[in-house]
Amino acid sequence: MPRLLLLLPSTTYRTAAFVEAARRIGVDLTVASEQPSTFEAANPAGLLTLDLQHPERGAEQVAAFAGRHPIDGVVGVDDDTAVAAAVIAGRLRLRGNPMDAALAARDKHRQRELMAEHGVPVPRFALHGLDEDPVGLARGVHYPSVLKPLRLSASRGVIRADDPAAFVAAHRRLRAIIGACDAGFLVEDFIPGYEVALEGLLVNRRLHVLALFDKPDPLDGPFFEETIYVTPSRHPAADQGAVERVVQDAARALGLVEGPVHAELRYNDRGPWLIELAARPIGGRCSAVLRFVDGSSLEELILRHALGMPLPTLQREPQAAGVMMIPIPGAGVLREVRGVAEARAVPLVEDVQITAHPGERLVPLPDGSRYPGFIFAGGETPAVVEAALREAHRRVTFVLD
Ligand code: ADP
Repeated sequence: MPRLLLLLPSTTYRTAAFVEAARRIGVDLTVASEQPSTFEAANPAGLLTLDLQHPERGAEQVAAFAGRHPIDGVVGVDDDTAVAAAVIAGRLRLRGNPMDAALAARDKHRQRELMAEHGVPVPRFALHGLDEDPVGLARGVHYPSVLKPLRLSASRGVIRADDPAAFVAAHRRLRAIIGACDAGFLVEDFIPGYEVALEGLLVNRRLHVLALFDKPDPLDGPFFEETIYVTPSRHPAADQGAVERVVQDAARALGLVEGPVHAELRYNDRGPWLIELAARPIGGRCSAVLRFVDGSSLEELILRHALGMPLPTLQREPQAAGVMMIPIPGAGVLREVRGVAEARAVPLVEDVQITAHPGERLVPLPDGSRYPGFIFAGGETPAVVEAALREAHRRVTFVLD
């Protein structure tokens, strides 16, 4: 049986879906993370502790491990492990991305530079240091603008500012979130328009679109909390084609070659704008929204591809599907969640998963980012799926202290 090395960040919801995928396609899995597992001695081929902060060191550790248990493919599940996966793939000559490409995908500023150089439509941007005087900076900015950290994800620290006073206030908040030691932050033009997310798989540089999601809730700021994703897209086919071409160009600009990509784009009367391209699959539990015609999950496709196994058709199932990342209901300690059974009973709702636990402190954007749960629905059209998600959400109440 081929063996796949799966790199997991210390906190992730992804493990179960990948373990299940490996079981279904019949491959051995070695799960690697930074934290040593107490089960490692009992399962030396299945568990591995790696220095993922220093990917070169991690790659040496994997090379030593592979001498005992040969590795046929490597997958990272988030932005950081994607970089480690690239380094390991290079060291062991496995399918993967060049390290530079994975690094560029993780760094919002480097990514913008490469995209702009290659003519990919991105917002006008500038890199600033946190030690620069915000009042002076605020005078030279085009409004509305967006301030964002270089390395956080899930919209943490991303703040819109419409005038100099708002810019200075946003700067203060951002500074508190990323700390004075960070490399800096980006200031970009705010791009109006509707937003979509594209889930894709690169095979030898070519983009295969797995799904294009609409985000029907307006994302106008000042913070950008994700809520509903619904596929297939209801936007005109010509717009969708333009979005796909921009993502393909963006992947080329970064030098990405293989594996999953997740992109966020805006679309307005000037066409599509690339907001972000990540060399990883869709985050959190959201991947469960994708099922393919042969019954494969997204994780199965990713594992097969990484191992060079034949790929099934990359066609998503015919029905519409959607997921709601339940908005963070406020700041406070979660006491209780009510109405989950009622939410599950809404027609077309397939699952309601509450991931926050009683006693957990919920922190709204821009400081926090962890959604308290996810709602999944499937149905004939995107409109009925969206309506079912909203109805289920209305039935759930989070009781906070
Ligand atoms: P993260 O990696 O934290 O998700 P992004 O750069 O993807 O950060 O930004 C998060 C969200 O903020 C985007 O999905 C989008 O809704 C909004 N956003 C970010 N930059 C811009 C921009 N320049 N113009 C308009 N919206 C933006």
